[in-house]
Amino acid sequence: MRIDVLTLFPVMFEGVFGSSILGKARDKGIVSLNTVNFREYAHNKHNTVDDYPFGGGGGMVLKPEPIFAAVEALTATAERPPRIVLMCPQGEPFTQRKAEELSGEEHLVFVCGHYEGYDERIREHLITDELSIGDYVLTGGELPAMVVIDSIVRLLPGVLGNEQSAVTDSFGNGLLEYPHYTRPAQFREWGVPDMLLSGHHDHIAKWRREQSLLRTLRRRPDLLDAAELTPKEREWLAKLKANGEL
Ligand code: SAM
Repeated sequence: MRIDVLTLFPVMFEGVFGSSILGKARDKGIVSLNTVNFREYAHNKHNTVDDYPFGGGGGMVLKPEPIFAAVEALTATAERPPRIVLMCPQGEPFTQRKAEELSGEEHLVFVCGHYEGYDERIREHLITDELSIGDYVLTGGELPAMVVIDSIVRLLPGVLGNEQSAVTDSFGNGLLEYPHYTRPAQFREWGVPDMLLSGHHDHIAKWRREQSLLRTLRRRPDLLDAAELTPKEREWLAKLKANGEL
């Protein structure tokens, strides 16, 4: 996969793209991660990328020319048009399903805004997707783009080792993940559920599934409607709910 990020602050990506899972994926050649400072495409006297909003009001607006020129330079030689993703608090809420969908692409271009926002023509005529990482406003699109890129890259084949499966992670199967414990079996006055020490793999798998269902019911019941549950599991959860056993 190839990922290009258009940003005015490429230095922000250095640590994130070079460390941990993203750094390893890059070293293994599974993904190429590139930043492009779109100021280099501002062909005016002072390399200006923003301007005052028509109609007045506070804040500066990113001009269309540098962003269009940077995207067009990136895509001029591309065999297939990439998905061009605008980071934006007004965009589609980012989810694990969206990460899975985007992880199937060969080429993604992320556009990071700054200041008050972008000229609307960028949204209307250049980009293919708009993503928000939540209902709050950050200073720029850099941190949101890092969040989205990290969650996409960890899904690419060969990125996570067997010991770190994305399948059992929260949202992978539509549920929250079950609780984990490690050594020591007794820490201060707190032990570990006996089941996990039993060595019965089938029983442990069943316990984990139940814990996952319970945790989702308690913390994120909204996820259960879309999750793949057996009729028996739905019945069990309905009973727990009806009996107030949460
Ligand atoms: N005036 C804009 C609005 O009200 O929608 C907010 C602009 S914000 C200060 C500057 C940039 O940060 C945005 O253009 C976007 O790239 C990024 N940004 C801020 N919050 C975000 C979020 N929740 N998700 C994705 N991007 C965000």
